[in-house]
Amino acid sequence: MDTQSPPLHVYFLPLLAPGHMIPMVDLARQFARHGVKATFLTTPLNAAKISKAIDREREFGSQISIRLLEFPYKESGLPEGCENLSATTTLEQTFSFFNALDHFQGPIERLAVEDRPDCIVAGPLYTWSNDFAAKFGIPRLSFWGSGFFPVCVHNSLRRHKPHEKIESDTEEFVIPDLPDTLTTTKQQIPESWKDDSENSIKEFQEKLIKEEEGSYGMVVNSFYELEPAYVKHCREVIGKKSWHIGPVSLCNKEEGEKSQRGEAASMGEEECLNWLNSKNPNSVVYVCFGSMSIFSAAQLREIAAGLEASGQPFIWVVKQNTKEEEMKEWMPEGFEERMQDRGLIIRGWAPQVLILDHEALGGFVTHCGWNSLLEGVAAGVPMVTWPLSAEQFFNEKMVTQILKIGVPVGAQAWTKRTDSRAPINRENIEIAVKELMIGEEAEERRSRAIALGNMAKKAVEPGGSSDTDFSSLLEELRKNRNNN
Ligand code: UDP
Repeated sequence: MDTQSPPLHVYFLPLLAPGHMIPMVDLARQFARHGVKATFLTTPLNAAKISKAIDREREFGSQISIRLLEFPYKESGLPEGCENLSATTTLEQTFSFFNALDHFQGPIERLAVEDRPDCIVAGPLYTWSNDFAAKFGIPRLSFWGSGFFPVCVHNSLRRHKPHEKIESDTEEFVIPDLPDTLTTTKQQIPESWKDDSENSIKEFQEKLIKEEEGSYGMVVNSFYELEPAYVKHCREVIGKKSWHIGPVSLCNKEEGEKSQRGEAASMGEEECLNWLNSKNPNSVVYVCFGSMSIFSAAQLREIAAGLEASGQPFIWVVKQNTKEEEMKEWMPEGFEERMQDRGLIIRGWAPQVLILDHEALGGFVTHCGWNSLLEGVAAGVPMVTWPLSAEQFFNEKMVTQILKIGVPVGAQAWTKRTDSRAPINRENIEIAVKELMIGEEAEERRSRAIALGNMAKKAVEPGGSSDTDFSSLLEELRKNRNNN
């Protein structure tokens, strides 16, 4: 660290959604541990979820704090309390939420006049953030909460538009100009990535692309050894300045830190650990579909039956239909009694990283959200892949076809939040979980996952690939400041 000049001051402004806020908190803590003054900008309800982690970091001597921004309820027409994307319930609300983010520009500019930050790291949809950075003569770095691989896939589809030559939603076609030969179908591509999408969606997508193209560079929650060909592709073919600085979740070393990530866990750290301690190493399957997914009662019933038939111990995180009377609708009769010793249901929020890192953990059934994928990799855990939406179908291909540490459950198309069907049946789930946990191939998959987990840990140690890239980012930010 340069001790002569004052510390760099960096603003952190994540998209207000758990999958963006959680890694951005870890990222800000990492900057602060490197002597940077880190200011996290967020709204009161979101601040309440992260303040423990920030306070704890400050107790260890880091210069990190939260600055509060009022949420523009009146201007955006959203109901009181809807300060996070996970609280929106309709598409209309989601769009209002995106529009609400425009109202943060004025308050943040007023703060910046006082603070004079040296850089802003912003999540997607703050379409004004490049103008803000230009006004204050500082770089705007983007942090999208995903990896190099999905960025490369998106870029390929946008440039080559292979899907436009395809009639059917289910016909396979190659994603052009990638380091690996991978195929997809039209039904797996996010609507917003297609040119024929609805005008309102398209408009947002165009804003997003413009915003990304105008940013100084990308900070990516990934590590070189995970996706070397895609790091190079992104830098050399797409030509985007980028730094890999992850897995950021690895900055949580103690059990208390791991269990305090995101929301308050619905099950205490001790209860969870006691249950895991009673199980054999590598024996438990952890089932969780991120922070936003909603399943129909019919699909929950199939998951319950599939897990029971698999014969494996499991922890299953259920986020909806969890009131007693609702559970009767989907839970097979006698399920909880039969699973008393074998299964643990967490209703609400699970301490995911704490669970994944436990030695009893043997497999992860995941929706392939980038954070979950990387947390699974960092823990050295093989996965059953069950993508639901967004870029998750591409992330699945990375896990199963490139890294070869996953077994697909067989999801072919997006699961809409309002879907009342059960696209994946109990047999699919049983087969995939058994394949993940039992047999020679399962052992080989596990060995590959453990090797990757070791590489992830090395990457963030002093001199590792992420640590080195992080230092070069700080160096560049300091140079930038001195040149201004
Ligand atoms: N998460 C958690 N407990 C839960 C659900 C999610 O800690 O019960 C965390 C998880 O560890 C990850 C984030 O929430 O850091 C979810 O991000 P991801 O990209 O996997 O999925 P998203 O929620 O954005 O779809």
